[in-house]
Amino acid sequence: MLRFLGRGSAFHTNNNCAFFVSQGTLVLLDCPSSALNRIRHIGIDELAGTKAQGVKVFVTHTHADHIGGIGSLIHYCYYIIHIPVEIVVPSAELAKDISYLTERLDGCCEKGYKIITADKLNADFTAKAIPTSHTPELEGRCFGWCLEINGRRVVYTGDTNTLGPYMEYLEKDTLFYSEIALHDAGVHISFEEFEKRSDEIKGRGTKVFLMHLDDEQAAGEEAEKLGVQLAPLY
Ligand SMILES: [Zn+2]
Ligand SMILES: [Zn+2]
Repeated sequence: MLRFLGRGSAFHTNNNCAFFVSQGTLVLLDCPSSALNRIRHIGIDELAGTKAQGVKVFVTHTHADHIGGIGSLIHYCYYIIHIPVEIVVPSAELAKDISYLTERLDGCCEKGYKIITADKLNADFTAKAIPTSHTPELEGRCFGWCLEINGRRVVYTGDTNTLGPYMEYLEKDTLFYSEIALHDAGVHISFEEFEKRSDEIKGRGTKVFLMHLDDEQAAGEEAEKLGVQLAPLY
C-alpha cells in the first residue's frame, strides 16, 4: 500500500518518507528535504501514475527529518508545477507550529497551500491521528496516523518510543509500518522492545514493515529473524 521515498533515520541520505496516491493526489507521510529531491528527480506525475492534481502531506511531528522539505515543496508546487499543497496536521498546536515554518520562516505564498487538521480532510480515505511519545522536548506534539484506504487499514507510527498507543489499532490484515532503531536512546523503538510485542502483533494477522532505520543491515537481519519486512522502497 505505502511505498517509500526513503526509509532512513535522521542522519541518513534518504530520510523516512512514505507515499500513496489517492484520486490523482500524491499523499506523503512527512516531507523531509530528501523526499522532495527524490520527487523532483523521479517526477511527480510518474509517482502519481497520472497528471498529479495536488499533494497532501500528513505531518507526524516537527523534527527536521520529517518536515524539512515542506517549505520548498510548497514553493516548488506553486511556482514550478502549479498544483496545490495541503498540509494535514494532527492537532491545532501543530497547525500553529507548521504555519510558523511556512509563513514566518519559509515565507510561502499563501495561495500555494493550506493547513488543515485531520477532521477537515476531504478525501476518499480517512485519517485519524494517534498521539504518542518520542522526545521530551516535543511531548504532546508527536503522532502516528491510522488511515483507512480502500477498505484497508494502514497504521504508521511516525517517530515513537512506545508501541503502546498503536496496539488498539492493529487488527487482521492491518498494514503496520513501525519505526525501529538499533541504537536505543530512549526516543525510538529498540529491537528488544519490538521483539516483545512482535508475536502478539503478528498473531493478530497484522502485516509488519520496519522503517526509519538507523542501520539497514542490522534491521534487515532483525526483520528476517522476526519474519517481518523492511518498508518497500520506490
Ligand atoms: Zn525521525
Ligand atoms: Zn523525531
